[in-house]
Amino acid sequence: MHVVCSDQHAHTSAGLDPDLLAEMREYSRNGARPWPSARPRIVIIGAGFGGLNAARVLGGKDVDVLVIDRNNYHGFWPLLYQVATAGLEPESVAFPVRAIIRKYSNISFMMAEVVHIDLDAKLVATNTVALPYDYLIIAAGSANNFFGNDNLAKHTFGLKDVEDATLLRNTVLSNFEYAVSEQDPAIRQRLMTLVIIGGGPTGVELAGAFVELVNHVLIHDYPMLDISEARVVLVEASGTLLTAFPATLRANALQRLQSMGVEVRLQTAVATVEQDVVTFADGSTLAASVVVWAAGVKGAPIAEGLGVKLTRGGRIPVAPTLNLDAHPEVFVIGDIAALEHTQTTAQGTRQAPHAMIAPVAIQMGERAAHNLLARMHRRELKPFRYFDRGNMATIGRRSAILDAFNLHLTGYLAWLGWLVVHLLSLVGFRNRVVVLLNWAYSYFTYDRGLRLITGLKPEALQPPTPRRIQVSNPPEGAP
Ligand SMILES: Cc1cc2nc3c(=O)[nH]c(=O)nc-3n(C[C@H](O)[C@H](O)[C@H](O)COP(=O)(O)OP(=O)(O)OC[C@H]3O[C@@H](n4cnc5c(N)ncnc54)[C@H](O)[C@@H]3O)c2cc1C
Repeated sequence: MHVVCSDQHAHTSAGLDPDLLAEMREYSRNGARPWPSARPRIVIIGAGFGGLNAARVLGGKDVDVLVIDRNNYHGFWPLLYQVATAGLEPESVAFPVRAIIRKYSNISFMMAEVVHIDLDAKLVATNTVALPYDYLIIAAGSANNFFGNDNLAKHTFGLKDVEDATLLRNTVLSNFEYAVSEQDPAIRQRLMTLVIIGGGPTGVELAGAFVELVNHVLIHDYPMLDISEARVVLVEASGTLLTAFPATLRANALQRLQSMGVEVRLQTAVATVEQDVVTFADGSTLAASVVVWAAGVKGAPIAEGLGVKLTRGGRIPVAPTLNLDAHPEVFVIGDIAALEHTQTTAQGTRQAPHAMIAPVAIQMGERAAHNLLARMHRRELKPFRYFDRGNMATIGRRSAILDAFNLHLTGYLAWLGWLVVHLLSLVGFRNRVVVLLNWAYSYFTYDRGLRLITGLKPEALQPPTPRRIQVSNPPEGAP
């Protein structure tokens, strides 16, 4: 496949070169086809759960598909917290996109950052090239939402991709290394304190896995540290964890986390986070060297330049058939799409967008691809209907909660269910084997084999206080 690539019009992810955009619009207006294909050209932005499942439906059909992603891998984010907590290697939760699509001769992949979408000119501009399309599927996922608080963005760790997870693991482990030689007890405790903001599934799973890392692994690795000084604090602004789950399961998760040693602070709003300190809405503070933000997500930033009025969560409103009302050739799916539906909770029913979860993205991907083909062949489009197979979350080793088809499970049985579902959902035979081996190893030994501090130059990890060598008796003749 050839694409237009114009060196003299280089542009960066910070913005699209206006000359290049003008040039591409011209191509488009003149009916030229810089992506030479006699068949309809479909661009899919994002090789995540939504994008890849849409691509699978389009595989082998009489269309040319180009999948674009900034990474060359598909990320299995539900297991990302295990990378951050030294349970899994990064490669186990990611799979090369090219290996997934190579069996379809009509699907290509391009690793690039999409910087602009021009709906009128039917163009997708990346940091290297601009591409015309006949149909577009936007499946760019989500990003952290710091609600405009720059301090949160600057001083907290996110958990949205493999780099985030690796950085978090490296930082936590480095802090324990620094704590070994730290003389000041207050700084030492701060180095061993980890705060997680947000009591949803990510916050709960992360807190459980971190407290187990401390209590089962780091306690043996660092005999010179008083491990009782280490703290894992889970902060939630509302009165309950895991709001999407029934009350009995929420209570079980809370009790389980507390019994494992997580300090859970409910009804505790965070005002801001500065370097090494969390300030709460009541003015109190907590010193912590690692603060993780798991309290808000919004649609991926690419939504912002679309010229469409977004929802409060930065998501793109779509018609029930998953296309834009004003652009029937553009479909939007997964986390970045906002499709209202009737949601039934313990508090009653209400209209709300579908949850930002993998099964919604997968099912939307399939529906959007079928609808796209239906539009192409002038058949009737079908509205998206979500088939809810249930909800689950792990709370450390051998414990989980599961809510499916009116069945509420806790403890070991729920954990086994979680384990099987996640293992089967992982892409790639190698990944399944490696993950199973890692889990079996950790299960039987209580150990985690992956606590290397890698990928960073030593100077990137600054010790908390300047290292000074204490010389009690200056050598004779010293000034
Ligand atoms: C830590 C974590 C844990 C989670 N746990 C669960 C769970 O247990 N169960 C569950 O159901 N869901 C879970 N989720 C949510 C689930 O992963 C998402 O709902 C799902 O990934 C959404 O699919 P998507 O296709 O919309 O986006 P994604 O799968 O995120 O894919 C989006 C893709 O778009 C690419 N992209 C974005 N912007 C650009 C751009 N400008 N240019 C090029 N490429 C771009 C990204 O690189 C990414 O590959 C979790 C998410 C996270 C972050």
